[in-house]
Amino acid sequence: MPIYEYRCDDCGHELEVLQKMSDAPRTECPACGEPTLKKLISAAGFRLKGGGWYETDFKSGQKKNLHDGGKKDSTPPCAKTGSCPAAE
Ligand SMILES: [Zn+2]
Repeated sequence: MPIYEYRCDDCGHELEVLQKMSDAPRTECPACGEPTLKKLISAAGFRLKGGGWYETDFKSGQKKNLHDGGKKDSTPPCAKTGSCPAAE
């Protein structure tokens, strides 16, 4: 069962909640009782698997950059971490 992180917009209270994927998100803060809880997206959930960004870039015609990987002026820093938004 995944753990979701929530943070209250009103009082800043943070909590982790074990929920099924199918459960409705919680909105009520247990600390202040306001319906201001917001679900946080954990970084792990955004981690791309197996070089998905690479394939996307490849298909969009940037394979030249990838092959010239040593060129400092053609590879944005984020490419190394895989955090680049998909290039169009
Ligand atoms: Zn609160």
